[in-house]
Amino acid sequence: MSRVYNFGAGPATMPLEVLEEAQKNLVDFKGHGLSIMEASHRSKMYDEVHNEALFLIKELYKVPQDFDVLFLQGGASTQFAMVPMNLSQGGRVEYADTGSWSSKAIKEAKILNLDVNIVASSKESGYDKIPSTIDFSDDADYAYITSNNTIYGTQYKTFPTTKAPLVIDASSDIFSYPIDWSKADLLFAGAQKNAGPSGVTIVIIKKELQDRVKENIPSMFRYKTHAEKNSLYNTPPTFGIYMLSLIMKWMKREGGIEEIAKINAKKAAILYDTIDNSQGFFVGHAQKDSRSLMNVSFNIKDKDAALESELVELAAKNGMIGLKGHRSIGGLRASIYNAMSIEGVKALADLMQDFAAKKA
Ligand SMILES: *Cc1c(COP(=O)(O)O)cnc(C)c1O
Repeated sequence: MSRVYNFGAGPATMPLEVLEEAQKNLVDFKGHGLSIMEASHRSKMYDEVHNEALFLIKELYKVPQDFDVLFLQGGASTQFAMVPMNLSQGGRVEYADTGSWSSKAIKEAKILNLDVNIVASSKESGYDKIPSTIDFSDDADYAYITSNNTIYGTQYKTFPTTKAPLVIDASSDIFSYPIDWSKADLLFAGAQKNAGPSGVTIVIIKKELQDRVKENIPSMFRYKTHAEKNSLYNTPPTFGIYMLSLIMKWMKREGGIEEIAKINAKKAAILYDTIDNSQGFFVGHAQKDSRSLMNVSFNIKDKDAALESELVELAAKNGMIGLKGHRSIGGLRASIYNAMSIEGVKALADLMQDFAAKKA
């Protein structure tokens, strides 16, 4: 068997031992005589998986008692609409615009005709940073940020402080560092970047916020519906939740989120050092103090598209895939989520250094 190093932004790499465990149990789940995919979501067999996944998230992510963890569908993009549908109280809603995903979230709030205020934006400079001052109003219905900007490779180092409920799209950095829950009120993520396969959306929401929802919001779009039914109001994405439970167990074996955060910092440093020591051959997209530990977006000097493609192809020949940058900024992007090993990152750094030495 030969596995590539997958630097793709999402769906993304998963730990081999997790895939192997799923494979071992795929046809006959722990002696039950059927696959977990074939099991009723009301069965005891599935119930244990479901509750274990919820329990492990609360344990590993240190989710406080006054929050619920929900498993929803429709991806992070559905949350762009569900957040305003559930949290708006008819007043102003506020956003920080730090890239394509925040822009898409803003668009949904506008479709719902809300009074949308963009308090800070890094659009002018090509979304190369997290704005240094983000002043949310304390009386906004909610304040919204994207903790990690998957395309531009920027990331908040601390969350802004506001009395308004802080909503965080953590799709590309969930479970990658410990959260200061005293600042967060609703955090959501599509699972397919850092938590498992596509198809499950994790929502972690303060209980008191669930009561804001208006009468005219249909059942499936209400957080409260899902919270009251332990995310079993309708058929949940059972296989994805099973995979999520395996990922959580893997993270526990790795020493938990604090340990994983340390490894993530090391991995990112290897690539950023390679960029910074390349004498201008590689140019990082993000300003240094906004650099993401999850997505390293960079160009080759003068945005030389021919050289950039050559490097992407050379990497692929050497078993490293998914490095082509997002079409909106070009260049290259190495996504180095929790499941990417240090060995994979070192292999890429070596390749980059050799390439720069030959081509500079
Ligand atoms: C990928 C991504 C999304 C969109 O996720 P879907 O699950 O495809 O809807 C939203 N926000 C961020 C930050 C992302 O990285």
